[in-house]
Amino acid sequence: MHEVSLVHALFDQAAWSCASCGEAVTRGAPLRCASCDGEVRLSAGGALILDRLELEVFDV
Ligand SMILES: [Zn+2]
Repeated sequence: MHEVSLVHALFDQAAWSCASCGEAVTRGAPLRCASCDGEVRLSAGGALILDRLELEVFDV
């Protein structure tokens, strides 16, 4: 699998939500909250995914 495809697959499995109000954010949408325009963060599996991303980045 191509690395870019892998990254997309990982993000596809993630759940995103607003860091301010907790509103769920639709995947593929701009990473801003639709309700309050707050920052969006990973709400499920985020740490795991970021770990994998770091591995991908530094393992070049
Ligand atoms: Zn919000």
